Amino acid sequence: MSTTASKETRAFQTEVKQLLDLMIHSLYSNKEIFLRELISNASDAADKLRFEATTDDALYEGDSDLHVFIDVDRDARTITVRDNGIGMNRDEVIENIGTIARSGTREFFEQLSGDQEKDAHLIGQFGVGFYSSFLVADRVTLTTRRAGLEKEHGVRWESKGDGEYVLETVEKESRGTEIVLHLREDADEFLDAFRLKAIIHKYADHIPFPIRMRGTAGEDGKAETETVNQASALWTRPKSELADEDYRNFYKHIGHDFDDPLAWLHQRLEGKYEYTLLLYLPKHAPFDLWQAESRHGVKLYVRRVFIMEANEDLLPRYLRFVRGVMDSGDLPLNVSREILQKSTAMDAMKKGATKRVLGLLEDLAKHEDGEDYALFWKEFGNCLKEGIIEDFANREAIARLLRFSSTTSDEQTVSLEDYVGRMLDGQDTIYFITADSLAAAKHSPHLEVFRKKGIEVLLLHDRIDEWLVSHLTEFDGKKLQSIAKGELDLSGIGDKEEAEKEKQEHEEAVKAARPAIKKLKEALGDKIKDVRTTDRLTESPACLVSDQFDISGNLERILKQAGQDVPEVKPILEINPEHELVKRLARMRSKDKVADFADILFDQAVLAEGALPEDPAGFVRKVNALLAG
Ligand code: ADP
Ligand code: MG
Repeated sequence: MSTTASKETRAFQTEVKQLLDLMIHSLYSNKEIFLRELISNASDAADKLRFEATTDDALYEGDSDLHVFIDVDRDARTITVRDNGIGMNRDEVIENIGTIARSGTREFFEQLSGDQEKDAHLIGQFGVGFYSSFLVADRVTLTTRRAGLEKEHGVRWESKGDGEYVLETVEKESRGTEIVLHLREDADEFLDAFRLKAIIHKYADHIPFPIRMRGTAGEDGKAETETVNQASALWTRPKSELADEDYRNFYKHIGHDFDDPLAWLHQRLEGKYEYTLLLYLPKHAPFDLWQAESRHGVKLYVRRVFIMEANEDLLPRYLRFVRGVMDSGDLPLNVSREILQKSTAMDAMKKGATKRVLGLLEDLAKHEDGEDYALFWKEFGNCLKEGIIEDFANREAIARLLRFSSTTSDEQTVSLEDYVGRMLDGQDTIYFITADSLAAAKHSPHLEVFRKKGIEVLLLHDRIDEWLVSHLTEFDGKKLQSIAKGELDLSGIGDKEEAEKEKQEHEEAVKAARPAIKKLKEALGDKIKDVRTTDRLTESPACLVSDQFDISGNLERILKQAGQDVPEVKPILEINPEHELVKRLARMRSKDKVADFADILFDQAVLAEGALPEDPAGFVRKVNALLAG
């Protein structure tokens, strides 16, 4: 840390400047959030001080009345936001609000659509933070001193939001941070104390520190300070005292979201361990949901003292979209985070919270109109699928929450329970197909016999589904089976007599197809593992299947695209003995013609999987030759 009274000008990283420009242009109709963000930072700073002070009381410097003070000066056209929280030293100022854009900024820019309304939303979720000051100010001066440092180690930061800022070492008597916003011409409305109070009520009523402002002047001309917000931690108050609006506003404060939450749960648990949960489901996925370093949005408190932003110790990774607060009555305050993370109380809280979030989802899914759950599924369904893989203990509960497309619905609305409820007489298996798009799944030749018999098939077309089905092999005592793997026996399902009749016809065709099988094996050689007849096709001449324990063709393609080494797995070519082309092949004499014909059948089957033949041009040439006769 520098101790000289040096003054220097530094440049923001390009991304910071871009972010500032973007913010000012997309959030112009939502300027008031600057106050929410500054109060949120002040409240974080108070939280941090209180936490550090649990092991070092001296940090209070004799003043433990943590609060935020907000003042307006109409003549100077300024708003001041002052806290007595932890403050920052010079290096922290540079790191936190200086040069560097925060991680994920670049990915964030990539997601912007150019549609102002949508982008405003994304920015809201990205968390505009400190820089939102420039929504209303054309110059911002921040003066801060870290708790515990001498008064001459204060730092002043000033910027016009134009690409650079000035940093200066100054003397600051009191610890904490003071921010002065020099308002822009078009931000007059915020010079009105009533307006500011309304914003504070909206976003900060339930943060646990008092927010104070100058009150109206008394007879002696002196103004008393008044506390504007309720200043009680929302989650510690009884449910009966809280309105939906209170919950929504608190969500906007901790979730940094413009939108209302989709649903929430608020519970105080008393048993071996005591803790309070206030957890929310957002309506929209945050921009970083699929990034390795995505932020978790749950905060851990111990008896109202903020401890940390949560990570996988508090909720499993697949629930990383949950926002809110967990407050433990059991954890010790003055031990390291590492020890906290290993404690059984923490573990119990994690388990309890996980169960309750899954319960909340189940309630949402059961709700009559189902619209909210559909919305949830669209945004976060793929996260839940990770839960099937990661969370063995809750696998059944999560499985009930899954929704798929099926041969009865393109939309992902079919639950496994729905499916089981619609199973036909004699059906004891849940059938599915995996493909890399809904269209490829829907038009797969493997479905032909299922369509004919009216058996529903789940159409799985998300990447993660391959992993999902390798972990979810059973539901409600019914096996899940890929219709593109292994041999298929549907003879027990549906009308017995009809099945018997079909079987006999089929067996005759199978006999007649023997020469075709022989020819195909010779012509295709080691491209395939085997050739056999099937009754799964009614319209197509051929299809590819994987052996029961081989990886599927779809998974093989996914792994190859991801640049992974995949052991070579050869498919089995199944042919439809009743198909005209197969019958023709059985009769065919010329060796060359047979070879081309075999290639065409094989490549067609590849195409039907939604993949490309190895030699597309060769395929076209052979088909054309055949067409030309
Ligand atoms: P976020 O709050 O999401 O981290 P911000 O842009 O709001 O992002 O703030 C960036 C960082 O600047 C904070 O994480 C904190 O370290 C620091 N900071 C901002 N305001 C204050 C403050 N009033 N007191 C102490 N530190 C602050
Ligand atoms: Mg912030």
